[in-house]
This record gives sequence, structure tokens and C-alpha cells, in this order.
Amino acid sequence: MPTLAELLSRETRDGELYDVLPDGRLRCYACGHECPLPDGAIGVCKVRVNQSGRLRVPWGYVGGVQCDPIEKKPFFHAHPGALAYSFGMLGCDLHCGYCQNWVTSQALRDPEAVAPPLDASPERLVRDAIRQGARVIVSTYNEPLITSEWAVAVFKEAKAAGLTTGFVSNGNGTPQVLEYLRPWVDLYKVDLKSFDDRHYRELGGRIGPILDTIRRLHEMRFWVEIVTLLIPGFNDSRDELQRLTAFVASVSPDIPWHVTAFHKDYRMTGPENTTAEMLLQAAAIGRAAGLRFVYAGNLPGRVGNLEDTRCAECGDLLVARYGYYVRDYRITADGRCPGCKASVPGVWGRKFDGQIASRPFLPGSRARLSVLQP
Ligand code: SF4
Repeated sequence: MPTLAELLSRETRDGELYDVLPDGRLRCYACGHECPLPDGAIGVCKVRVNQSGRLRVPWGYVGGVQCDPIEKKPFFHAHPGALAYSFGMLGCDLHCGYCQNWVTSQALRDPEAVAPPLDASPERLVRDAIRQGARVIVSTYNEPLITSEWAVAVFKEAKAAGLTTGFVSNGNGTPQVLEYLRPWVDLYKVDLKSFDDRHYRELGGRIGPILDTIRRLHEMRFWVEIVTLLIPGFNDSRDELQRLTAFVASVSPDIPWHVTAFHKDYRMTGPENTTAEMLLQAAAIGRAAGLRFVYAGNLPGRVGNLEDTRCAECGDLLVARYGYYVRDYRITADGRCPGCKASVPGVWGRKFDGQIASRPFLPGSRARLSVLQP
């Protein structure tokens, strides 16, 4: 039986995000590591490889697919209630000990992370998304930047079919990859994990490229939302949260910030689970920093009105939620508050045609994709 790495080494094609350096190495620009790869070398992500002077990148498979409410991503200012079809490949450029998608993200590093890949084409994924009623399609689960060529191929099909597209990413980007993605990606969620470079180095990255990416995403007019998983003892000090939220507000006070509850997962089982009280305190810090849309996630019904969207001008209720489920929707056809008529930042449909559900959405049938054969 071939190993997972051997199986995936066949599922590649020539990449587009690299230069040839004067000494013959290839410089990959898909993520902020910008690996210089001599012949035969594989990147930190374990999925992009210099094969005889050509950068081979993942192609033709997914690690998993699922259709959920878009609130689960979380995006709260983009087609509320819509179904988002999520797909991901395998591998990641970071190695966070608390990863909640570790089965796919760490599949090539951790022998316990077994996620059998499924054979896929852009056409079949988009057909499957439409069959399941999705209006949005999202590259997620692994780090989508490291598989950008595949995401763009899927998104070209998706846009032709009228879908909105999105990335759920750690934000460790480069100017080159953002230029490459801009025509094809509408929504971009960045998981801003900390505001301390030492913490990012523990996770295998650096904070600099992530902050640069957030600034660029906003300047380039991607629709950006930020999420921070609040981990007691790791990133929850008042000082760190003040600096983090002040940074986001300096890019734009209209960027929604989601602060979400940690639960013990993967290798990070030391910290306690985040409480509702901790989320409320963090949210208050975000509001004090000037952020106009602050949400508390993962503890439905326990965080007051921090699941709802309210008008930043007059305070009127615009979208009422319980967890991922939209209970009421009042934004006008032209994206305004029905009370004071202020424009609400986000990506809104002409009318609300998503779900208002009191119970979880369950897809009618599973994706029609088959496991890659050895
Ligand atoms: S995606 Fe990032 S980690 Fe992978 S080869 Fe490219 S620069 Fe290196």
C-alpha cells in the first residue's frame, strides 16, 4: 500500500505561484514562508515540491466536503443564512496544537491524522455544491493558501455558476498570492490567533506576514472578517487583546471581529475551556478599541446579544441569531438598516433567501465523491 504522501505525490500539476531564483532554486509565493526550494525539496507545508525545476502543487482531490450555514465559517456579514459548501485539501503551513481541523491539516505530519482523500474535479465539486443548495463555496479545513491554484480552478467554475466564493485562512499570505486570488475570491476570513510574534513562532509562523495580509486584503476590497479563538492562558491577556483589536480597528472599524470559545482539542489539552464570561470580557475590549461589529461564538444562547448584528449607527436589530441559525433578518434590499437607512458593511443579497431555522441544517444526501484509489 502506498503511504498518504506517496498517494498525494501523484495528485499534482505544475503550480503558478513561484519564481526561479538565480541559483536555480524555486521561490514559492503561496504563503508567507516563501520557501526557497532546491531540486527535490518539499515546502514547510509538505504539499508543494520542486520536481526537476518545476513546482508541483496539489491537484484533483479533496480531503473532505460539507455543506453548512455560512455562520459556521464564521461569516456574519455575507449572505446570512445561506448554505456554504466547504471543501479542503490536505496539509498546512502552520502546526497549531489546538487545531480543530487537524485530521486534514496535519495529515502529512501526524500519523494519527488519517483523512482518506476523495477524487474530485472543479466541475464535480460545483455540481455537488449546487445540488446541495449552496449559494457560497469556501476553501477551508486545510490552509487554502497552500493549495491556491486548485481553489482558483474550483472558483472559476463556481463563479460561472453564480456562486459567491470564500477563503477561511490563517492569513499567512504574500502580495503575490493575494493578487492571484483577487479576481476569484469574494470573502476572506482570517484566523488572527494572537498578537504576539512569540506565540506565532510556537505555531510555526510569524505575525508580520499575517498583519500585512490583513491590511492588503482590506485595501484590495476582499470582504474580510476576523476570528480569534480565545484560549485561556495563551492569547487572552487584556494587553494582548487590546493590541489585537486596536490593530483590526486601525485597518477598519467595520471589519467584523468574532471572538470564539476554545474547547480542548488535538494536542492542546492543558488550557481550560473558554467561558461565556471570558468571551464577554474580550468582546468589551474589542468594542472599546472601536470595532463596530463584535461577535461571540461557540457558546450559543450564553453571550447576550453578541450573536446578533445591530446597526452601528442607531442600534436597531438587523440579524438575530442563535448559534449558526438566523432567527430574524431585517436588512433592506440595498444593504441598509431599515430604521435609520445607514449602509451596513457586508455582502448582502437583494432579499433574504437563506434559512430561518430552529434546528441544525442537515444536507439531504452526502457528497457524491469517491475515495482515491491506491
Ligand atoms: S505554500 Fe508556503 S510552506 Fe508551502 S512551499 Fe509554498 S511557501 Fe513553502
